[in-house]
Amino acid sequence: SLVSGVPLSDFDADVTVVGSGPGGYVAAIKAAQLGFKTVCVEKNATLGGTCLNVGCIPSKALLNNSYLYHMAHGKDFESRGIEISGISLNLEKMMAQKSGAVKALTGGIAHLFKQNKVTHVNGFGRLTGKNQVTATAADGSEQVINTKNILLATGSEVTPFPGIQIDEDTVVSSTGALSLKRVPEEMIVIGAGVIGVELGSVWQRLGSKVTAVEFLGHVGGVGIDMEISKNFQRILQKQGLKFKLGTKVLGATKRPDGKIDVAMEAAAGGKNETLTCDVLLVCIGRRPFTQNLGLETIGIELDNRGRIPVNGRFQTKVPSVYAIGDVIAGPMLAHKAEDEGIICVEGMAGGAVHIDYNCVPSVIYTHPEVAWVGKSEEQLKDEGVPYKVGKFPFAANSRAKTNADTDGLVKILTETIVPAGAGEMINEAALAMEYGASCEDVARVCHAHPTVSEAFREANLAASFGKAINF
Ligand SMILES: Cc1cc2nc3c(=O)[nH]c(=O)nc-3n(C[C@H](O)[C@H](O)[C@H](O)COP(=O)(O)OP(=O)(O)OC[C@H]3O[C@@H](n4cnc5c(N)ncnc54)[C@H](O)[C@@H]3O)c2cc1C
Repeated sequence: SLVSGVPLSDFDADVTVVGSGPGGYVAAIKAAQLGFKTVCVEKNATLGGTCLNVGCIPSKALLNNSYLYHMAHGKDFESRGIEISGISLNLEKMMAQKSGAVKALTGGIAHLFKQNKVTHVNGFGRLTGKNQVTATAADGSEQVINTKNILLATGSEVTPFPGIQIDEDTVVSSTGALSLKRVPEEMIVIGAGVIGVELGSVWQRLGSKVTAVEFLGHVGGVGIDMEISKNFQRILQKQGLKFKLGTKVLGATKRPDGKIDVAMEAAAGGKNETLTCDVLLVCIGRRPFTQNLGLETIGIELDNRGRIPVNGRFQTKVPSVYAIGDVIAGPMLAHKAEDEGIICVEGMAGGAVHIDYNCVPSVIYTHPEVAWVGKSEEQLKDEGVPYKVGKFPFAANSRAKTNADTDGLVKILTETIVPAGAGEMINEAALAMEYGASCEDVARVCHAHPTVSEAFREANLAASFGKAINF
């Protein structure tokens, strides 16, 4: 039994969460705050899951620092009257800053667990009953947790590319790309989705020649508006990134000199081509992680994409077992996992469970950032929804002009909102959508001047009245 001494009830815990990513750790804290006796089982040495250890947090640290380096190193600072010389890259230090941020944040969760009285069990969690989780520690010792409810938040793992062996040295996944020991001269990225363009940007800014090979005909992944995607691609190309779109990678071979030959052909069929690189980054997506979880022991079957099926209250077909985050359907995003975690345990406490996936924003943290919430113009057309468009270029926004940072635009579709711009600004759009505000409502809100979010207001003006003021 988990609890030493006399058990408080038939169960050791009210809620046992398996996995401590943004879904699991947030759910565990919320459950404890609601008065549930809560346990969180995590197989890794540190808490925080993909997001904190090898995802959002380290990638954003490198994106920020590589951007600063790029600004200081290129001609940009000079044109602003800031003349510096002797700029050089200390990659080891840059990586150390990233690791420091990860360590502080993962340690912060351990602290929050203590503060909120969440019991942390370090071990691999396995379902051994409808109300039982068995955790196996690294030394093989087992701990059986009898629990009223189980919340599966086991997240996702990198999708392998058939025939390409990841060694996390020269053939890397996103995880290895966050810890390269030197800047590769040439890098090929398979996949120009969100993670591919973010990590491609990092290494391009630090000096690599980066080519992203993408099967689809556009960059930015699933759900992005095509006009925004084209604009974005143009901006990234101006920064030096190269793209081979509509191209299928056939395989990769390591040469005796350590370089890697990557064979590819046009997706529609066509002549083969081989490009060579020092580091190959495989970035074709992520898949749900349910290995050895023991789902079959309680009769839970996965859907055709390996996800755990749940109902509107995140309950599996076994009523005491719930699932949230990357391991279920929906966008694989940290904030989606967090929100599901919170409302799922609120539901266990008898509360209402509601999430509108149309209001979950997506952000690509390149420079400029690309952010959207709601449907793309293509989706609206497919669904036959009538809409009006309002656009406002940052080149006409006074704050963007003063910042000499004018790439990109805001695009509003009256049935939905698709801005390309700061990841911060998208929250205003999500708020408006969540509360059903019209474009006119947003346009009538007084926006501080000069701010970049005035561009958002102007695009709403354009969408509701047909014209912006400053453009
Ligand atoms: C490079 C990269 C950048 C990203 N950037 C962003 C971003 O900027 N914004 C964003 O929103 N999303 C981003 N993501 C996606 C984000 O990381 C995921 O959507 C998010 O982490 C999912 O949370 P989760 O809690 O469902 O699962 P995860 O974070 O994957 O956590 C699952 C946890 O469960 C543990 N676990 C699994 N099985 C067991 C078991 N049987 N027993 C015990 N423990 C187990 C795992 O060890 C892990 O700690 C990024 C991902 C990557 C790879």
